[in-house]
Amino acid sequence: MNVAGEPSFRESVDLMFKRAVALMDLSPGLEEKIRVCNSTYTVRFGVRLRGEIKTFTGYRSVHSEHMEPVKGGIRYALSVNQDEVEALAALMTYKCALVETPFGGSKGGLCIDPRAWDEHELEQITRRFAFELIKRDLINPSQNVPAPDMGTGEREMAWIADQYKRMNTTDINGNACVTGKPINLGGIQGRVEATGRGVQFALREFFRHPEDMAKCGLTGGIEGKRVIVQGLGNVGYHAAKFLSEDDGAKVIAVIERDGALIDDKGLDIEDIRQWMNKSGGLLANYPRATFSADGPAALELACDILIPAALEGVIHKGNAERIRAPLIIEAANGPITFGGDEILRRRGAVIIPDMYANAGGVTVSYFEWVKNLSHIRFGRMQRRQEEAHHALLIQELERLSDEKSLGWTLSPDFKSRYMKGAGELELVRSGLDDTMRSAYNAMREVWHGRQDVEDLRVAAYIVSISRIAAAYRSKGL
Ligand code: GLU
Repeated sequence: MNVAGEPSFRESVDLMFKRAVALMDLSPGLEEKIRVCNSTYTVRFGVRLRGEIKTFTGYRSVHSEHMEPVKGGIRYALSVNQDEVEALAALMTYKCALVETPFGGSKGGLCIDPRAWDEHELEQITRRFAFELIKRDLINPSQNVPAPDMGTGEREMAWIADQYKRMNTTDINGNACVTGKPINLGGIQGRVEATGRGVQFALREFFRHPEDMAKCGLTGGIEGKRVIVQGLGNVGYHAAKFLSEDDGAKVIAVIERDGALIDDKGLDIEDIRQWMNKSGGLLANYPRATFSADGPAALELACDILIPAALEGVIHKGNAERIRAPLIIEAANGPITFGGDEILRRRGAVIIPDMYANAGGVTVSYFEWVKNLSHIRFGRMQRRQEEAHHALLIQELERLSDEKSLGWTLSPDFKSRYMKGAGELELVRSGLDDTMRSAYNAMREVWHGRQDVEDLRVAAYIVSISRIAAAYRSKGL
């Protein structure tokens, strides 16, 4: 979304970048090299559909190749354009550096309304788009590895992987050409919900630091906090579900394209999602909460945590003054414009920035890529060995208790939980949690450690740009 009187999305990202670089000691040449987008490939291709040739426009933008492969999703939306794809590719570069996934940044997009086509047509379009990108190595396990983004999911990734394998029949690492695949086609447990899970882990880490909470006047834990979620797509739905079901947060409003559902007592996210599956994604007429057709106004309701989880640019100069949430966590990419960010900062809101907050997706994508390259499921070698080891300790404790008549009884619940070896899902969650904690602490060191750094976004950029600069310095350009 381009907001009147504000810079474009790409310019907004660049302005945020420059705000951080002003506090760093980078040569102007290196600053520019890191900031600019290396290349954007535009393709227009035809597909014979419904008795005629339809032409589609797609992009794959590579922002930085300081590490390869480059990584980033493919978005399907009518609003896709070069500026947006380049902004999103830049954010991927910074995101990957911040959470230490060994990738450069890329992004793709196809101008299409996925709802306008049936499954078979979408497959033809996707395969054709993938063909165009694969033949230029813009999809390739060692060069460029796409993933899902808005409007795409496991289904599209499966078509892309299959297309790659048809065109590269002897590439043993073919499955690693794309992430976010279904489990039965080389995907990994926990990838679908990874971005939402990452938002939950990010918030948990934030709430472990009273000093950080004090910056926006919050106390206590996540439990009972009033949350507003904008966008109940894959990311927003999982974040809202996990925060309400696992952490006891109260989701008091959800916003979708036709309006908002509001309930001060807390909404049942799973129930709403089931409703949306039947209603074609609409919230109106949902019987168990108040519906308001004015979605944007619901962003301005009083709450503790606001989670924009849909499109870019939803909080801007025009509404930032009225946003009441003291804490905003950017589950979407670029939901706050540069102008909106300035207003919110001045008003004392704490913003957990996109490049950190939504990095759970690419983090688990990294695990999937590694799994594909190693050709073995995580935990397959260790799981039973670990269980046998734990059983040994339990047997010994029970033997000692009998021998010395100590009367110890280990509860069956403890025993079964302690004995359970980690499978792929547990390992993925542990890796994701560790990543989110480490990256938060890297940002927070800069945030608290430097007088001139006032917010987490600048801190995130500084951490990330320093790492990219170090990569360029050590390898040369
Ligand atoms: N599209 C997601 C993002 O914006 C995931 C990218 C990936 O997994 O490569 O971070």
